[in-house]
Amino acid sequence: MSHSPASGPSLEGTEIVDSVIDLIGSTPLVRMKRISELEGIECTLAMKHEVTNPGGSSKDRPALEMILAAEASGELQPGGTIVEPTSGNTGVGLAIVAAQRGYKCVFVMTDKVAPEKIDLLKAYGAEVVVCPVAVEPDDPQSYYSVAERLTNELGAFRPNQYHNPHNPTAHVKTTGPELWRQTAGRITHFVAGAGTCGSITGVGRYLKSMNPDVKIIAADPEGSVFSGGSGRPYLVEGVGEDFFPAAWEPELLDDIIAISDEESFKTARYVSEAEGILIGGSGGMAVAAAIKVAKQAKPDDIVVVFNPDSGRGYLSRIFNDDWMANFGFLVECDQCVGAVLDTRNASIENLLYVNPDQLVSEAISMMRTNGVSQLPVCKNTPPFAAAEVSGAVDELELMEAIHRDPGVMSTPVEKVMGPKLPTIGVGQKVELAIEMLETAPALLVLSGGRPLSVLTRTDVLAYFGAVADAAVES
Ligand code: PMP
Repeated sequence: MSHSPASGPSLEGTEIVDSVIDLIGSTPLVRMKRISELEGIECTLAMKHEVTNPGGSSKDRPALEMILAAEASGELQPGGTIVEPTSGNTGVGLAIVAAQRGYKCVFVMTDKVAPEKIDLLKAYGAEVVVCPVAVEPDDPQSYYSVAERLTNELGAFRPNQYHNPHNPTAHVKTTGPELWRQTAGRITHFVAGAGTCGSITGVGRYLKSMNPDVKIIAADPEGSVFSGGSGRPYLVEGVGEDFFPAAWEPELLDDIIAISDEESFKTARYVSEAEGILIGGSGGMAVAAAIKVAKQAKPDDIVVVFNPDSGRGYLSRIFNDDWMANFGFLVECDQCVGAVLDTRNASIENLLYVNPDQLVSEAISMMRTNGVSQLPVCKNTPPFAAAEVSGAVDELELMEAIHRDPGVMSTPVEKVMGPKLPTIGVGQKVELAIEMLETAPALLVLSGGRPLSVLTRTDVLAYFGAVADAAVES
């Protein structure tokens, strides 16, 4: 059966659009009045609310543009397959357009992505392949390698959003003109997170072509290369990179503001509660940067912040108190894990660790010098990201291993290390630490999403001792 409107009765005079594809774009611009009041912002701060796209994110726009271009060039043939590594939003956009136009979709993503995003793509009929985040890009298991292999095996079209020029073009053609029209040409600042850089570059190109004085400001997760980081991991999804995508055009950018995971997540919660606009972590990151920009702006300025998607995709993380507390983003009580660490001997370094390539002999000497019986194994140097913890070494286990084979002394710790220590947030209850220490010899304490210290039974006992002493003294 044909769904072409030509085959049915005339719809002239009705407001029925032809398909869901026609609902992509034309998203609203909404003033952030409550946040402006709370923050003492005098200029107009408005949000480009991309959630009203049919797939719930800004990525519907480049998804459509990339598919139309591939159809036009013949890269995508009727009934063909689309393969793309994507953190979710681009996948939804592609899946929607593919459903309408009769293509199959296979999406490849890392295990860092929130589980509900995976289910969402499956709901549109797509196939999802999940790969480990903790491997190098050239590892055959990496999501880049898997996507490459599947593209070849299936003879599929790979939109390649990181390199596809039609990604920024979508925003040159649609988002930019919408913003110009919606602000009556009065927009002075545009603030957005950058992932593939499609949004910031596309909008930046258009707005600068209309008025070169419009300021284009990128918000970037701390650690990402756009703000000068080395590409070390962070928790905010969908933004920041460890490489420079094709659409990265720094000459368009007037400023790049680095925002921590903690500030991004807290701002997402703050905006959701204060404005009644449920936003995700990358939206929170963009708003955190936009608040800083708006505070410096003149009263007549119009600062627009780009909100790519909804907080609904992050309910089990940013909006889940247990998850937030476990990463040390929330303080649940006064007398919490942080208080135990505070009573500890200040001469002991807060976080003792070994690198994966250090020798077992070095780990043992560090444990002996510092009187500790386990060490986390972490890549790089502090401050570490939670994802840079790869395991732990334990005195007892090392002793047994060396007993079996004395050669173990001169092997790298990564060859003999055990699993990671269980984690607890710096703001979680001491009772939880006690419960967890019944089965684990030590816990890794996280603060602001980063490893802060290792907590053991001795630490908790010392803390109770100090509390009892204080009670006697008072
Ligand atoms: N936020 C989220 C949640 C995203 O999925 C993306 C796209 N990866 C972005 C922000 C960044 O947009 P862009 O890729 O256009 O730079």
